[in-house]
Amino acid sequence: MALGEERTNVVILGSTGSVGRSALSVIAHDGAARLRARGLSAHSRWEPLLEQAREFRPRFITLTDPTAAAGLNGQLRGTGIELLTGPDGLERMVQDPETDRVLSAIVGAAGLRGTWAALEAGKLVAIANKETLVVAGPLVMDLARRRKATVIPVDSEHSAIFQCLRAGTPREVRRVVLTSSGGPFRGKSRGELKDVTPEEALRHPTWKMGPKISIDSATLMNKALEVIEARWLFDLRPEQIEVVVHPESVVHSMVEFVDGSVVAQLSPPDMRLPVQYALTFPDRVAGPCPRLDLSHRFSLSFEPPDRETFPCLELGFEVMRRGGTAGAALNAANEAAVARFLDGQIGFLDIPRACRAALDHHSFDPRPSLDDLWKVDAWARQEVARWST
Ligand code: NDP
Ligand code: MG
Repeated sequence: MALGEERTNVVILGSTGSVGRSALSVIAHDGAARLRARGLSAHSRWEPLLEQAREFRPRFITLTDPTAAAGLNGQLRGTGIELLTGPDGLERMVQDPETDRVLSAIVGAAGLRGTWAALEAGKLVAIANKETLVVAGPLVMDLARRRKATVIPVDSEHSAIFQCLRAGTPREVRRVVLTSSGGPFRGKSRGELKDVTPEEALRHPTWKMGPKISIDSATLMNKALEVIEARWLFDLRPEQIEVVVHPESVVHSMVEFVDGSVVAQLSPPDMRLPVQYALTFPDRVAGPCPRLDLSHRFSLSFEPPDRETFPCLELGFEVMRRGGTAGAALNAANEAAVARFLDGQIGFLDIPRACRAALDHHSFDPRPSLDDLWKVDAWARQEVARWST
């Protein structure tokens, strides 16, 4: 879209979260030049949603937890903003004819429904909600193809790969290398991880994110999910995907082409950049993000991941190779285990154990329907809820 043309109407699913707030910061910086918030959603936290609604004046807001809507009672009177509730509200916002782009930034498999509805309506979907692709990658990408919808990654690594891929054709790609900060426990031994607390695990060295992905970053499950995400998003073969630890989080990922050239994307760690790129793609515009400061000496380092201390990473590679229902089992077990760890019910090292157990005991189906995937999801959550250490 060139300046002076119509503005892009954006629906943000999960606007009260960390990625959602990054998106609103991009929209605020844009000053209504090209981007406009058309719909916002939260699950239950109506107060920050109301504040966002007052500032950005969207056409709709949705609270997916209908019981939370009572808090908003009457507060939108006279604003022209319509309050919707439940998952149907998400569908209504994303399928609205005036909605141009949808940012999928709900956390967990709960993000699948709104993402699916947006793709079904043929919208451009900026996808941060990696769990959707982990659970149902092949079905989601197939739906996008059938409905001629566009999927643009927001996860920083996948945004980097997406940008780097523009340097060649798909047949010219040898491999993609996802970078990982290594999380807050890089360099620690398994023994040292036994008794870590949720507070310690939540303290990420380079990124400020929501609690679930912060724990995933500490176990390296986040990288495991990203490996699976990359496979489906970019239609890669499993052997084309690798992970390297890069603690500075400046190189967001790399693509190696068949001639040996490696193309990387660099920027200071700030989610507003990949969010903005997905909202303005194919254009690049000046935004609120800090620039890379090359005026003083600094170095970038890379090291192989410690697969023994962080067994989640291996689970990701295994699930990426297996496909089928494996992603749904892994993702649901992980969501349930992370919630129990945050509640103080299980230890840090129990997270990979619970995921391993769910993967080993679920009844694998190589070509599941969406319904089959939801059944595996529910089964794995139940198993982990009953799981005792
Ligand atoms: P947050 O926990 O910060 O925010 C989650 C958002 O989803 C909130 O708006 C929350 O609403 C809403 N939500 C939670 N549960 C539900 C539900 N059951 N139904 C509907 N909405 C729900 O998450 P993040 O912003 O950190 O992450 C969002 C997604 O983006 C995740 O998939 C994550 O993996 C991915 N991502 C995040 C990055 C980051 O930097 N944070 C980087 C790359 C990817 P409420 O406020 O009411 O709870
Ligand atoms: Mg990432």
